[in-house]
Amino acid sequence: MFENVFDMNERKSFLKKHITGITIGIVFGLALVIYLLSMLFTGDTGYVIVLVDGQEQGIYSLHEDREIRIETDRGDNLLVIGSGQAYIKEADCDNQVCVHTQPIKATGGQIICLPHRVVVRLKSKEKSEIDAVTN
Ligand SMILES: [Zn+2]
Repeated sequence: MFENVFDMNERKSFLKKHITGITIGIVFGLALVIYLLSMLFTGDTGYVIVLVDGQEQGIYSLHEDREIRIETDRGDNLLVIGSGQAYIKEADCDNQVCVHTQPIKATGGQIICLPHRVVVRLKSKEKSEIDAVTN
């Protein structure tokens, strides 16, 4: 009885030690990657990220005027960046919700096209990115 309790505690603390080590390793690794990425994309807040099916398709500066065609298996969206804003100009989805969504600015915003599973949002350097990776 006492031996069992002792074993349990031993095993728990052993596991705990390892989990802590692994967690620290992952956190430091991710922090390093994110730090290097943010070095590459300086001025973090001025960028939008395009996700299709949760997969990153591209990162674009809000300060470079351009049009980006987002092609998915389900249809296309035309993302327009101009005057520090990003918005969907055209889409062949059923509900056109994305076309009518408010433009994304450096201060915030997000455009979601559910039928095409497209998400356009500000690229953030927040810790939520770590959550997204570990989940
Ligand atoms: Zn749409």
